[in-house]
Amino acid sequence: MAEIQLRNVSKRWGTFVGVDNFDLTIADREFLVLLGPSGCGKTTTMRMIAGLEDPTEGQITIGGKVVNDLEPKDRDVAMVFQSYALYPNMNVYENIRFPLKVRGVDPTTHDDKVRRASAMVELDEFLDRKPAELSGGQRQRVALARAIVREPNVFLMDEPLSNLDAKLRVSTRAQIKNLSHELAVTTIYVTHDQIEAMTLADRVVVMQKGVVQQVGSPTEIYDRPANTFVASFIGSPAMNLIDGEMTGGSFSAPHTRIDGLAAADGAVTLGFRAEDAQVAEGGQITAPIYTLELLGDATMVTVRIRGALVSVKADKSFRAQIGETVSIRIPTDHCHLFDAATGARIG
Ligand code: ATP
Repeated sequence: MAEIQLRNVSKRWGTFVGVDNFDLTIADREFLVLLGPSGCGKTTTMRMIAGLEDPTEGQITIGGKVVNDLEPKDRDVAMVFQSYALYPNMNVYENIRFPLKVRGVDPTTHDDKVRRASAMVELDEFLDRKPAELSGGQRQRVALARAIVREPNVFLMDEPLSNLDAKLRVSTRAQIKNLSHELAVTTIYVTHDQIEAMTLADRVVVMQKGVVQQVGSPTEIYDRPANTFVASFIGSPAMNLIDGEMTGGSFSAPHTRIDGLAAADGAVTLGFRAEDAQVAEGGQITAPIYTLELLGDATMVTVRIRGALVSVKADKSFRAQIGETVSIRIPTDHCHLFDAATGARIG
């Protein structure tokens, strides 16, 4: 069992708060993704779990054991980082075997373990090569195999795909997903890429400025973002957000009037996703087209409301001129409402 608990864990440097009161139980074998913009505290959280950084406050347990005072090497976690330092003079086989030697694992088991780990990441043919003779993706897989070979209870991965090109990212991402399932280890994965988070995670933790904004399955976070930060961070394009006023169940903003919404009168931010709305006559937004983008499978039509870009996916055959008036229809059950002052979800 490798359930991980973080109990009110904070990290401060002087008065600067890197991670603020992080409190979460990560289930045994769960794939948890920490997601957020640069500097939000993802890596610091990970480093505290690994033992590379001491929490200023709070308790961390792994498999029911408090690890605050344990050295990284005694925590039974294996790490894969963005910069995977392979030993240049060792070949792939020796690189993968290295953690077994360091940890004093019975030498008669090494060959079997190395071959099994390298087969899992499809490196069997490259065991004699030096790192310099490998592609970026192959090097990344050596780093993965080096983590796998240790048979840890916990995998910690910090942006392990960020040095790969777009195509390799997709295939290595699929491999990581498959491996974590096959190896049945608890995995914590750090990324600022929301697509990586959505495709890999059992649960996603969205962070901003050291503070957890929402914890949930990818679907929960996509369908019911807890606040405007999460709404604007998840999804491509991000959720459309329009500042306006609620009066008697109707939302109004420039070019916009949406009836039949359940929220109290006052200032609100209305959100909806591009794919949930249509270009159709009699819609609740009527505004001049600001830009049109051909996406292949659809045409993205964008208008501007109070300076904010508001996009909707139209049919790929949709043609119009910039400046022409377009009508956008938004089903009210796809409207999200947020408090204008705090950004918190209200409906
Ligand atoms: P990135 O995606 O850019 O790696 P991150 O979310 O992983 O970002 P962290 O590396 O956890 O962010 O850093 C969180 C905050 O803590 C940042 O503002 C960073 O500048 C600050 N920080 C990190 N290490 C230290 C340190 N040793 N001393 C002071 N501040 C630090």
